[in-house]
Amino acid sequence: PDPMRILYKDYRTAIPQNFSNYESMKQDFKIEIPEYFNFAKDVLDQWTNMEKAGKRLSNPAFWWIDGNGEEVRWSFEELGSLSRKFANILTEACSLQRGDRVMVILPKIPEWWLANVACLRTETESEARRGDGLFEAQVYGRTVLIPGTTQLTSKDILYRLQSSKAKCIITDDALAPAVDTVAAKCENLHSKLIVSQHSREGWGNLKEMMKYASDCHTCVDTKHNEMMAIYFTSGTTGPPKMIGHTHSSFGLGLSVNGRFWLDLVASDVMWNTSDTGWAKSAWSSTLSQFPISVFCSAPTAYRMLVQNDLNRSYKFNSLKHCVSAGEPINPEVMEQWRKKTGLDIYEGYGQTETVLICGNFKGMRIKPGSMGKPSPAFDVKILDENGAILPPGQEGDIALQVLPDRPFGLFTHYVDNPSKTASTLRGNFYITGDRGYVDEDGYFWFVARSDDIILSSGYRIGPFEVESALIEHPSIAESAVVSSPDPIRGEVVKAFIVLNPDYKSHDQEQLKKEIQEHVKKTTAPYKYPRKVEFIEELPKTVSGKVKRNELRKKEWTTI
Ligand code: ATP
Ligand code: MG
Repeated sequence: PDPMRILYKDYRTAIPQNFSNYESMKQDFKIEIPEYFNFAKDVLDQWTNMEKAGKRLSNPAFWWIDGNGEEVRWSFEELGSLSRKFANILTEACSLQRGDRVMVILPKIPEWWLANVACLRTETESEARRGDGLFEAQVYGRTVLIPGTTQLTSKDILYRLQSSKAKCIITDDALAPAVDTVAAKCENLHSKLIVSQHSREGWGNLKEMMKYASDCHTCVDTKHNEMMAIYFTSGTTGPPKMIGHTHSSFGLGLSVNGRFWLDLVASDVMWNTSDTGWAKSAWSSTLSQFPISVFCSAPTAYRMLVQNDLNRSYKFNSLKHCVSAGEPINPEVMEQWRKKTGLDIYEGYGQTETVLICGNFKGMRIKPGSMGKPSPAFDVKILDENGAILPPGQEGDIALQVLPDRPFGLFTHYVDNPSKTASTLRGNFYITGDRGYVDEDGYFWFVARSDDIILSSGYRIGPFEVESALIEHPSIAESAVVSSPDPIRGEVVKAFIVLNPDYKSHDQEQLKKEIQEHVKKTTAPYKYPRKVEFIEELPKTVSGKVKRNELRKKEWTTI
């Protein structure tokens, strides 16, 4: 009758149930935020207790497989014990104190998850005050978790270390040399931990230290509104921004994603691929080899996977629920995925600043190309430039209501950037920076990031629609559509296209014409790309998002 109430009254032990009715889920949604909340203590440690009492299934809390087939499985008890050891290393060997920031740049190895939990146990930070919808938090230090990827360069690392003022860095063999080349320029940095089989001068060896660390550690009490973590955005439109999240905005907020959008229950095995260094063959075989039931990935991954022969070469026997987020997913890719696996892709939309904003939820009719309906955590509206709410069908700014009550799943502020923080407020709303519209049935449709909109001969064109038309053409693997200068029309649509290998040897002029004709037929003709350029690959962020602004800048600076 009141699912969220059950969850939050009893968030320590409640076993989630699937929900299948969007309307009742949204209506029944209530949240009681506890004064103190710490995910490690109030959730993970409680599951350990349940595990000990035989009150949960025997499947692991954590299951990790690497490219060589090496496996790690931890029960909740093991996860607890290892993360307490790690927490002791942070407080003792690294002499970190309340409020100090720890930067974690690791690939997807078990230590990355341990570092997350260890930081929850040790850290904490000054209170984030709220009230007027503005974020007045005074943030000094804190644990900064950067989902690490070996693709960060020393320049990226320097930027992150300097802007976060981190005191400690944890990384691996691949990135330690890069850190060492920039460490002298980071005055706050005083301890370095390496995850490695070897020792390295000036670095503490985490694996060695774990052998001797005590697993006696008392988890700190944290108020729900204390800062929990600072995340960097993807940097699709410029240097990544630091987003401050609290124990309620992320610690509790993400449980809304897990319960409703991912539709997780205790027996599920969920695989979240959100990392880079894609190896698509390994992906396919991992999905078919292990009993993964819930799969969460980015559109770029689905686009690659559907190029495989999924019917014959790979079978995903346990898979039952697939979700995608981070960029819009093309209806054509959803269609192919359904043909090849029998499953729908449940698209979700959110930002580093938020938890899930809109999603397709189990039991809801999916309208391909739509982001679904608002998550129970937010009131989502489409606004005009004066802050008035627009009716269905009209394109405007996608916004979240933040006054009189600030939603708990929203960040507190852009760290060290009050003017950027203030610029996101319009009346009682937080402006996401994305454009879209809502239809008569309450489904939200993404049009574009505000900066990506193309204005041609008085028409407003969102690149996603053109890209979705393009990918239906058999020659096209991926594309990015941007504005390009034109003496008569001001701007025209230009498509950067990555061809499927079979088409690379075709007559390019002929192909270009064919593609243009195809777009004219599949979408309103004024949207067809007047300019087409074939390229080998698209510029992307480390998280795999297309950087249209880079392509656009080139167009506009070469004239
Ligand atoms: P930066 O803010 O640094 O330029 P970013 O906005 O890409 O980078 P993230 O917070 O990782 O950083 O991404 C959030 C953005 O991703 C959203 O604002 C939106 O533009 C886009 N996005 C996420 N999910 C979807 C989706 N399902 N459909 C369309 N766009 C999406
Ligand atoms: Mg952004």
